[in-house]
Amino acid sequence: MKVVLRRVKQTPLDFLVKANEITFKGYLQYHAGKLILLKAKLEGPLLKSCDICAEEFKLSLDEDVEFYISDGVYEDEANIELDVVESINGEVEIEELLNSEVELIRSDYHSCESCKSSVN
Ligand SMILES: [Zn+2]
Repeated sequence: MKVVLRRVKQTPLDFLVKANEITFKGYLQYHAGKLILLKAKLEGPLLKSCDICAEEFKLSLDEDVEFYISDGVYEDEANIELDVVESINGEVEIEELLNSEVELIRSDYHSCESCKSSVN
């Protein structure tokens, strides 16, 4: 699902995309300046290898995602603490945002249930 950023107004624009069994459901809303707010929920099973035993296991995702998308290069240093993704061509592909969120989660440290229980 491709979204042209300048068409996003203050009325929330709902989206729902799926990749494998993961759903990414939320909305885009115009914030201020060049910024568009994205708020969404990431849910579903993610297959990942355990960081301790390297066995694959299913991680149940239930994550609230919130960041801003900048229509063009983001240079507002007064708001440098904001989490901003820049879009250079004025568009965003929701599937790509989903994929990068999933990659972020995948790169975090996670261990499977049996390793977790043997630690405790
Ligand atoms: Zn393990």
